[in-house]
Amino acid sequence: MFIHNKQYFAFNIWDQDSIKSVIDAAQKCSHDIILQTSSRIFEKMEWKLIREFVTDYSNRAGIKAYLHLDHCRDIELIKTAVDNKWDSVMIDASHLPLEENIAITNQVCDYAHPKGVLVESEVGQIQGVEDDIVSDKAGIADMEDIRRFLNNTNTDTFAAAIGTCHGLYKSTPNIRYDIIEQIGKITDKPFVVHGGSGLTDMDFKKLLSYGNVRKINISTELKQAYRMGILNAEEKGFLKSVGFDVSKVKDEIHHAIQKTAEHKLGLLDKEKNYE
Ligand SMILES: [Zn+2]
Repeated sequence: MFIHNKQYFAFNIWDQDSIKSVIDAAQKCSHDIILQTSSRIFEKMEWKLIREFVTDYSNRAGIKAYLHLDHCRDIELIKTAVDNKWDSVMIDASHLPLEENIAITNQVCDYAHPKGVLVESEVGQIQGVEDDIVSDKAGIADMEDIRRFLNNTNTDTFAAAIGTCHGLYKSTPNIRYDIIEQIGKITDKPFVVHGGSGLTDMDFKKLLSYGNVRKINISTELKQAYRMGILNAEEKGFLKSVGFDVSKVKDEIHHAIQKTAEHKLGLLDKEKNYE
């Protein structure tokens, strides 16, 4: 199981160009990565083509890029990802009562595991907006719920509310490192941090100092980088109707996304000091 031996950043992608930008960053930094999509983006994708493209492009780059379907509540969609050789899938039933969450998570494990696909799950709902999945419940996952969930599911990895949030932060998040530490004491299962966009480098360094943190998700920040790429193109005059240059605009976007991903991947290098 790939996630058992190291720590990863998981970047949300939406098309082949964004895949290229992130894989180029991974190649430059010599780190393997996870490429993930929300359910909404996944639904619109040409699955076979994307699977082949990711495998081919990452092979050429000399790094591993794993494909993950993030935050999915639709079992049929999860099966589609499994059948199209995605490397892992996330069943998000954290909004349901714990017993139902356990049952649905196991149902997904029963389908995915025989096909060699990893399952991520969530216990204790993470705040913010991810696609149309909205959570406005301020909350921190309950340790007893986490314990019961882990004792009763076959999930490979899991996420829990620790004070991080999807989307952009309105105020400084209060990350509950103590929960991560407690989780590390009760299980060897890899822990996934959602809501990585907007955290400081020091936050990431601290998160990565916990060995059970194996996957940190970056979504909003890459979309902001895309936007910055367009703004940079405008500032350089590439969007003027006379002299409008598609390839130069694309290059600015590519560059902005690649740099953002490279900066995050650099945080995995222990010798670099960000204090
Ligand atoms: Zn998430």
